[in-house]
Amino acid sequence: MKYLILVGDGMGDLPVAELNHRTPLEAAHTPFMDTLCRSGELFLTQTIPEGFPPGSDVANLSLLGYRPEDYYTGRAPLEAAAMNISLTPDQTAFRCNLVTLAHEPNQQVRMIDYSAGHISSEESRQLIAALEAGCGTEFFHFHPGVSYRHILVVTGRYPQMETVPPHDFTGQEVTEAWNRYRNHPQWAELLEKAMNILADHPINTARMAAGKNPANGIWLWGEGKLPQMPTMTERFGISGSLISAVDLLKGLGVNAGLSIINVPGATGYLDTNYNGKAQATLESLRDNDFVFVHVEAPDETGHQGLLKEKIQAIEDFDQKIVGPIFQGLQESGEEFRLIATMDHHTPLCLRTHTASPVPTLLYDSRKTDKGCGLPFNEHSAKTVDEHLHNGMANGELLMEKLLQRKHE
Ligand SMILES: [Zn+2]
Repeated sequence: MKYLILVGDGMGDLPVAELNHRTPLEAAHTPFMDTLCRSGELFLTQTIPEGFPPGSDVANLSLLGYRPEDYYTGRAPLEAAAMNISLTPDQTAFRCNLVTLAHEPNQQVRMIDYSAGHISSEESRQLIAALEAGCGTEFFHFHPGVSYRHILVVTGRYPQMETVPPHDFTGQEVTEAWNRYRNHPQWAELLEKAMNILADHPINTARMAAGKNPANGIWLWGEGKLPQMPTMTERFGISGSLISAVDLLKGLGVNAGLSIINVPGATGYLDTNYNGKAQATLESLRDNDFVFVHVEAPDETGHQGLLKEKIQAIEDFDQKIVGPIFQGLQESGEEFRLIATMDHHTPLCLRTHTASPVPTLLYDSRKTDKGCGLPFNEHSAKTVDEHLHNGMANGELLMEKLLQRKHE
C-alpha cells in the first residue's frame, strides 16, 4: 500500500462576489480532485490548534501527523534544519530577516520593507558574511539563506523577549517591538553594530544608487530550539519523502525523518516545475511507502490578493499534480490511499492565513467506501461535516486515518 498527502498551500478561501459568491476552489476547474472526492471521503481537518498562529509551519506539522501542542518549537529551527544547520540543545535559532527600516523623529522606527526589496541571495550572502565577521561571537552566529531569509544561532542563555514577524508590519511603525530588543543591552549592542556594518556596506550604497530598498537592518523573530520529534519511521513504521520548494517544509521533512527531494525548477510560484514534482513523486513511491507533496503557489497568490492567479494555481495543482500522480499510480497497479488537502485558508480578501478547518479528501484505490458524491470544495466539506460530524480534530488523527493504524 502506498500513501500520499498532496497539499495546495493556502488553497481555501471565502466566497467571492465576482465569482457569484463561490470560492476560488469552487469556481476553478478541478476534474481530478472532484472525481477523487466523489468516490472517496470528504471531511474537515483542524490543522491549527486553538491558540496557535495560523502559519504554514504549524499547519504542515499537523498534516504530517505531529500535534503542534507537542512538537512545535518555532519556525526558525525548522528553517535551520532545511539549511543543514544542526542545533545543539543549548542553541536557539532565530529567523534573521534583512529589512529596510526608517528611523524617524522621536525615536520612531518604521518597517519599510520586510524583505529589503526581495534582495538577491548573492547580495545578501555578502552582507551576512560582513555581519558574521563584525558581530559574530562565541554566542552569535549568522548563517546565510535565500534572499532576505537568514538564520542567527544564539548559544546559551539570552535575554527573552516577545518577537513579531516583520511581514505583519509592512509600512507600519514598529517602535514598540523594536524597543523590546533595545531594552536588553546584549540585543541593543548586536542591532547597533549590525546597522553600522550594513549602513556603510557597498552593496547597500549600490542598491540605493539604483533606487532599491537597502538592507539597513536585521529583524530577529520565529525563534526556537531544536524540536524533539520522533521520525515517521519510529512512529508509524513507514519510510517516505517530502517534495517542496520551500525551506520551511523541507525543515519539517528533515525533522520527521523524511528524505527531501529537491526538484530542479521548483520555485514556489506559478512557474514551478509541476511536471518534475509529479514525476519525482511517482519515482519516490517505488522505494517508499509515503510521500508528502507541497505546492506553494495558491498561498502566494492569496497573499497577493490575485483572484485570476489563485484560480490558475488551484487548477495547476489539480491538473499538473493531482491528475498525473493519480494516473501514474493507476498505471502502476499499486494499491494506494491518497489525501488531497490544504494546510490552511489564505482568503484573497484578507491576504493572510486563517485557522478554519480545511476540506480534506481521502481516496482509496480499493474503493472500500461508497463515496461522498460531492465535488471537492469548502462548501461540500462543510455540508458533509454538518451531517456527519466526522471532522478530524487534528492532523495526528488524520495521519492515523490515512495509514489505518495508530502510532506507537
Ligand atoms: Zn501555508
